[in-house]
Amino acid sequence: MEEPKRRGVRLVLFPCPLQGHINPMLQLASILYSMGFSITMIHTHFNSPNSSNYTHFTFIPIPDGLSISDVSQHSVSEVVALLSQLNINCAVPFQDCLLRLLSSGEAETLPCLISDAMMHFTQDIADSLKLPRLVLRTSSVESFLSFAAAVSISRQKSYLPISDSQLEIPVTGVPPLLIKGINTHDQEIVYQLLRNMVDKVKASSGLIWNTFDHLEQSALATLAQEFPIPVFTIGPFHKIFTASSSSLLSQDQSCITWLDTQPPNSVIYVSFGSIVGMDEAEFMEMAWGLANSKCPFLWVVRSGLVRSSERVEPSWPDGFLEMVKGKGCIVKWAPQQDVLAHPAVGGFWTHNGWNSTLESICEGVPMLCSPNFGDQMTNARIVSHGWKVGLQLENKLERGEIERNIRRLMVEKEGKEMRERVASLKEKAEACVKKGGSSYESLEDLIARILSF
Ligand code: UDP
Repeated sequence: MEEPKRRGVRLVLFPCPLQGHINPMLQLASILYSMGFSITMIHTHFNSPNSSNYTHFTFIPIPDGLSISDVSQHSVSEVVALLSQLNINCAVPFQDCLLRLLSSGEAETLPCLISDAMMHFTQDIADSLKLPRLVLRTSSVESFLSFAAAVSISRQKSYLPISDSQLEIPVTGVPPLLIKGINTHDQEIVYQLLRNMVDKVKASSGLIWNTFDHLEQSALATLAQEFPIPVFTIGPFHKIFTASSSSLLSQDQSCITWLDTQPPNSVIYVSFGSIVGMDEAEFMEMAWGLANSKCPFLWVVRSGLVRSSERVEPSWPDGFLEMVKGKGCIVKWAPQQDVLAHPAVGGFWTHNGWNSTLESICEGVPMLCSPNFGDQMTNARIVSHGWKVGLQLENKLERGEIERNIRRLMVEKEGKEMRERVASLKEKAEACVKKGGSSYESLEDLIARILSF
């Protein structure tokens, strides 16, 4: 890449230290670097990004105060507890670090902070230092609106839990997601995190999204009404910069060689991202559902995917590995974007993390949706019921239902129609980042905003 002309302006970025948040923040940093800004990335020790892949950035680690027991992320409550902990533990080190940067006497100006929406504590610190804060929200606009609506419903009562009668209340979306879809057992801590996230987004100087206008038109119109702050829809980020270099786990390239041997559109790629876990019974259903579908598959079974008190690696059902020999390829972590771009891949069985959803759309791959928690619930509904580029598994994982739905997606007419619809979204995604496209123009607006501070 040709070295862009430097602007003498340094941007400070702070990601939330989870894979699905680190990827888009590093992609954003790369985009802004290519626009002539210098980049400083403040980050936690926990899940620290691989700085050797970004020698042109400055990385500053800060203490996060986490212990080994704080960092397990197998359930929604553990993830929420981790994020809540980080919002407390990082405040003082982050403030000290920003203060040092602001008073370092560097020639470059430091106009603003860009931080992940989930790291909401940074708003008060930015305010106290009179530094504008731009927020990066790493999921869909639709899911943010459903969180905001759920938060607002939770506020109508002065206390939690939300009562059973409120579970059927629709939160925004087409078709509506019901509040029970995003409701969880540990309500107070979840709603506290979401409340803070939403409130501090409202108080920010602008909101950056890894999405594009065509994809989320009506949600963006609602957002403009409810959040009267500048909004920059500059995604899909990875269409400008790939995420591979920000992977925290090493990606097994051997699966690409295996895909090379498979016919076009024949393989279902299966991955539930970096956090979702399942019990052994669910894993068993998944395995037999895949085997019985008779479709070739590439399955990411990362360490810790199967929750078991005894071991980190799963134990395979008897006879399974023999049955799928040659038909299935299993890896611990894949180069996902390359996999989705491979002509052999015809479907993606996903948990609908936003990065996975967007990556699938950008490669024109229809989805089988198995959302687990949080934004995945909304993302799956817009994929299946809104854009109609996927099927949602509505019930508990069960081998018969899995087999049926894999075949609907991979070999039946329905799947073909979804493939056609998602191909059209792929075209839109490619057009929007080109000169004159909506994301291209929004990026220009973002640069103007940064330079106006
Ligand atoms: N990913 C990957 N290899 C894999 C599975 C996932 O590189 O085997 C990447 C994927 O491309 C995406 C990210 O990890 O960018 C997962 O983010 P997502 O928001 O989909 O899910 P999360 O991990 O946050 O639940």
